Amino acid sequence: MKVVVVGAGYAGTLAANRIAKKVKTAEITVINPRPDFVERVRLHQQVVGTAAVATPLASMLRDGIAALVGTVDKIGDGSVVLDDGASVGFDYAFLAVGSTVRPMPGTVPVGTWEGAERARAALAALPAGSTVTVIGGGSTGVETAAEVAEARPDLQVRIIGSSVGRDFSHRAFRRVRSGLERLRVSVVDDGVTEVTDGAVHLRSGAEFASDLALWAIVSGVPDLAARSGLEVDAEGRALVDPYLRSVGDERIFAVGDCAAVPGARFACALATPQAAHAANTLARLSEGRTPEPYSLRYVARAVTLGRRDAVGQFTRTDDSLRRAYFTGRTAAVVKELASRGGQYGARTGTGA
Ligand SMILES: Cc1cc2nc3c(=O)[nH]c(=O)nc-3n(C[C@H](O)[C@H](O)[C@H](O)COP(=O)(O)OP(=O)(O)OC[C@H]3O[C@@H](n4cnc5c(N)ncnc54)[C@H](O)[C@@H]3O)c2cc1C
Repeated sequence: MKVVVVGAGYAGTLAANRIAKKVKTAEITVINPRPDFVERVRLHQQVVGTAAVATPLASMLRDGIAALVGTVDKIGDGSVVLDDGASVGFDYAFLAVGSTVRPMPGTVPVGTWEGAERARAALAALPAGSTVTVIGGGSTGVETAAEVAEARPDLQVRIIGSSVGRDFSHRAFRRVRSGLERLRVSVVDDGVTEVTDGAVHLRSGAEFASDLALWAIVSGVPDLAARSGLEVDAEGRALVDPYLRSVGDERIFAVGDCAAVPGARFACALATPQAAHAANTLARLSEGRTPEPYSLRYVARAVTLGRRDAVGQFTRTDDSLRRAYFTGRTAAVVKELASRGGQYGARTGTGA
């Protein structure tokens, strides 16, 4: 059985390793634009240099899995076509191309490997006293602003978002804000309309001088599914059946950020169980067994505030917030373990 996995992030790497373990007849090819697995949940650390986030794919994939460095241009009828014109045939394909960023002109995105590398170079070149503006009030923005402020106390760091840190209940949200304050990050709840050379302009009419503007919002997905004629939702995510297969082609599984799983948001914590489930489904089909539908379950959400502080909050399975939250060094350790767990799960093919 020929299996092609498109994208070697959390979902693609986990799926490939799990299929290799469970389906002994599978010949697996993983296609990724670079020869490394990137721990995307640590890209804000890459920006400041508190983590090296790239690991050679050769050490992430089980023996026998072929890794091809390239970008898939189209998923066709039983084969994928790469941007250099080469094609690879498949009996089953896994679409695992993740999500992307749509940075405002004049900003540098932190949500992709290439963007984070540019941001790292730009930050390193800033002299003491410079101002960094982080745009985006969700977890990626909060984590980036806190990480930069902690690693570079010689800079002035400002975070701007329409509702900075409001992904948490009121008390946990206040703790996120006090954590940012402790790191001397100034918080502005507003929308950014434009970034010009040296200034950030806001919806309210205010403007701030800025030496570097980091775009810390992840939005949209690569257009590969849409371009290939798969059925997609308004955001371009591949529509899937209850078994995480493309609704138009049962040979194509879609997992992780690029899959339109009802109720799912962009999260490593969801990408890995989806990949594990889809790999199980393929194993079951290969044994002539009936597949089981996937069911989405949230457990918690957490945001780091530098290396020694974090806020975590338990959620119900539908992602609604429970009252209980935890903070400080304990939360930072839990979040660190969760990040390590994402990479460990991908490398070993284990996931809920
Ligand atoms: C700074 C930051 C912090 C985050 N923190 C958290 C967190 O704390 N918890 C959490 O749950 N989530 C977090 N996330 C979100 C998380 O990183 C993503 O949800 C997760 O990476 C999705 O996994 P994936 O495998 O679907 O996609 P990705 O990890 O993005 O992997 C997709 C892979 O596909 C490749 N690819 C793309 N197009 C093609 C193509 N045409 N051909 C071949 N390969 C292709 C990409 O280059 C990439 O290697 C964070 C994200 C960021 C940016």
